[in-house]
Amino acid sequence: MASGNREPASAVEGREAPRVLFEETVRCPGCGSQDMRVVAYLVKVRFFDEVVLEFGECPECGFVHRDVYLASYGEPARLEVRVTRESGDYLLVKSSSATVIVPELEIEITPGPAAQGYITTARGVLERVAEILSEVCRESDEGCAKKLEEVRRALRGETDFTLIVEDPLGRSAVVRLP
Ligand SMILES: [Zn+2]
Repeated sequence: MASGNREPASAVEGREAPRVLFEETVRCPGCGSQDMRVVAYLVKVRFFDEVVLEFGECPECGFVHRDVYLASYGEPARLEVRVTRESGDYLLVKSSSATVIVPELEIEITPGPAAQGYITTARGVLERVAEILSEVCRESDEGCAKKLEEVRRALRGETDFTLIVEDPLGRSAVVRLP
């Protein structure tokens, strides 16, 4: 494709442009500045219908806010799936209010005040954990290394695992990938 001749995203034929749902100024969880602008877009995502994407960046400290959640939500939700070789992978909208638990691997990702939302897969959750563990594990820490190996075994499909997503606001969703 010739560079300099790209159509803006909004003009791609057959695709609907994201619609700005709201814009607001919020308090930055990083530095407390009151000037962080957050823009929320309403977009259609395959498998999930309408989702809201929020994006903001603090002008003071550079903190980046990202969130993704279902456009229609309200009831608390607890979603649980078993990830095996046979089941294949799952796609999830993990909102900033969701807790992600993998009991077999003793993984629990809880939302803090600066929690982010993202779209990922069940294996994507483990990849993130493996990435963090490989950064924090010290050579002398056998427990940490063992845990990392267990996560990698699950990633290779050698062990099954359960993925639980608890969202008190019901803003998250999990679907099996075809
Ligand atoms: Zn800030």
